[in-house]
This record gives sequence, structure tokens and C-alpha cells, in this order.
Amino acid sequence: MSEEEIAKLPGVGPAILEKLKEAGYNDIMMIAVDSPKNLAELAEVGESTAAKLIAAAKKAADVGGFETGDVLLERRKTIAKLGSGSKSLDELMGGGFESRAITEFFGEFGSGKTQLCHQLAVNCTRPFEEGGLEGHTMIIDTEQTFRPERIVQMSEALDLDPDEILKKIHVARAFNSHHQTLLVDKATELAKDYPVRMLVVDSLTAHFRAEYIGRGALAERQQMLNKHMHDLLRFGDLNNAVIAVTNQVAAKPDAFFGDPTRPIGGHIVGHTATFRIYLRKSKGGKRIARLIDSPNLPEAEAVFQVSEAGISE
Ligand code: ADP
Ligand code: MG
Repeated sequence: MSEEEIAKLPGVGPAILEKLKEAGYNDIMMIAVDSPKNLAELAEVGESTAAKLIAAAKKAADVGGFETGDVLLERRKTIAKLGSGSKSLDELMGGGFESRAITEFFGEFGSGKTQLCHQLAVNCTRPFEEGGLEGHTMIIDTEQTFRPERIVQMSEALDLDPDEILKKIHVARAFNSHHQTLLVDKATELAKDYPVRMLVVDSLTAHFRAEYIGRGALAERQQMLNKHMHDLLRFGDLNNAVIAVTNQVAAKPDAFFGDPTRPIGGHIVGHTATFRIYLRKSKGGKRIARLIDSPNLPEAEAVFQVSEAGISE
């Protein structure tokens, strides 16, 4: 349906259509909101062709309209909240991790980002009454830190059958940033066959950071990340799913940002993530989560525990 729409755009023949498909443009809106430079590069067409395509897509796409507050409030009621296993962390998030939003965990190596993602994937399978979403999770694993053994430990700690839980967690390794972005499309496909209620990208930024090096590559990196983030948001909207992404803080001053405690990805990631949570280690397996940025919740902190059983109070 969406591909048919793209095929109908003036100037799109079979060759360009194929290139657009290969570059992951499967929706007219993706073209409409892109920049000529980015589209030209990804779809391997000239910049003037790209500009014409974008203009045509803008004309053909339904750019949406304005809605009144009462309609939006009704829509907010469909938002689901996923429990973390820690009451104080859930309270910090206003009752749990919201669907249709991106939550970014950022912090140093070992601060608990990956552990939280594992726990949320386990919890996502649970009944609504127990803070779950009765759904499956897709994990895009870029650092190869997914451990099924941890899922088994966390499931057993909750008296759940680990084999049942493992079958509801789908993991793909992303070999580079381009692959990472394509896996979101793949997840969208799979979400037609499974009730997917969460998508994890762990880590969101590691590949981008390793591949786009130097000041000259910064603009392009940010553009790619921006598109990736918007694809993730769209996935969240389509599936009423929780989107959780992780982001490292540079151990030593980053060439671009200087400040060692600033998350990678600069303001692109910061502005697109709906909730940003800064994680840091404390004594005895404790972790401190600080909600940095939220559209409707106060900036505050919560303390939780990481143990063999997973995340707890
Ligand atoms: P990152 O923020 O780099 O993703 P992780 O989420 O992987 O960090 O956290 C790693 C930490 O989680 C370890 O240093 C350890 O403190 C804790 N951890 C991991 N596995 C276990 C376990 N089986 N039992 C207790 N603690 C664990
Ligand atoms: Mg990790």
C-alpha cells in the first residue's frame, strides 16, 4: 500500500523505486520529511532528483492536522505503562514506562542500562495486573550484551517459566548503524505476527559513534540518528509499544562535546527521546536513576537494586 503510493510519485520509475526500497524508504512520509542531501545519498540519486521527489511526496502525503485537547486526552488514555520491578523507579516514571514514547537510559559502562532492558523485556510478557503488557519484545543488540541466561534468572525470580518468556523475546544483532536502522523495518514486519509491545535498542549510539568520526561527519551522523529515532517513535505509535534505548556517556571527553557526562548524540537524541534517565552506580549493587527530561513529570531521583534476580526495590 505505502510502496504503491511511492511508485505513483512523478519521476519514480522501477529503478528509483528499487533504490528507495533498498534504502529503507517504505512510506511516502519518510520521503516527505527527509532532506534532499540525505535522500540523495541513501537512495543514490542526484540531489535535484531527490528534491523533486521530496516535493512530490510532500504534496501526496497527508501531513496531518490539528486536533483539540479533548481528543488528545482520549488518545493519552490508550497509553500503557510497563513496570520495572522497582516501585520507586516506576513512581519516578509516573507509574511505569510509557508506550508510544522513547525512554533513553544513559550512563557510564556498568550503570545498569542493559540490565534494565533485560528486566523490562521479562516484565513486558506479564499480565496487565502485574505491571506487564502481555506482549513480546524486540531487542536490537548492537554490543552483543544480550544474555538469555539473565532472562532465565530474572524469570525464575518471578516464578515464571523461563522457556515461555524466552520465546517472547526476539533478539537481532546489528552489525553496523545502517543494519541497525534496517532492523527497525524488520521489527515492524515481525510485529504483524506477534503482539509486540516493546522495542529495545541497546545501544542506540555505539555504532554511530564508532562510524562517524571527526567534525566533518557530525552533521551526517546527527541526520541519520534523527531519522532512526523517528522510525522508532513511529514503531511505538503503530504498536502502542514502549521504546527503550541506551546511550553511553563518554568515559573521556568526547571530541565534539568536551563534557564527559554528556550523552552521545547531542541534542538530536535529547530532543527526540521523550524521557531521559541518567543512571549511576552507588554502593552495594544500588543504582540511582535521575529523570532528566520529561514532558509531564518533575525532575527527580529513584534508587533501585540490581542483583541476580534482576531489578528490585
Ligand atoms: P551497562 O550500563 O553498561 O549496560 P549493565 O546493565 O550491563 O551495564 O550492568 C552491568 C552490571 O550489572 C554489572 O556490573 C553488575 O553490577 C550487574 N549485574 C549483571 N549481572 C548480574 C548478576 N547476574 N547478578 C548481580 N549483578 C549483576
Ligand atoms: Mg550495556
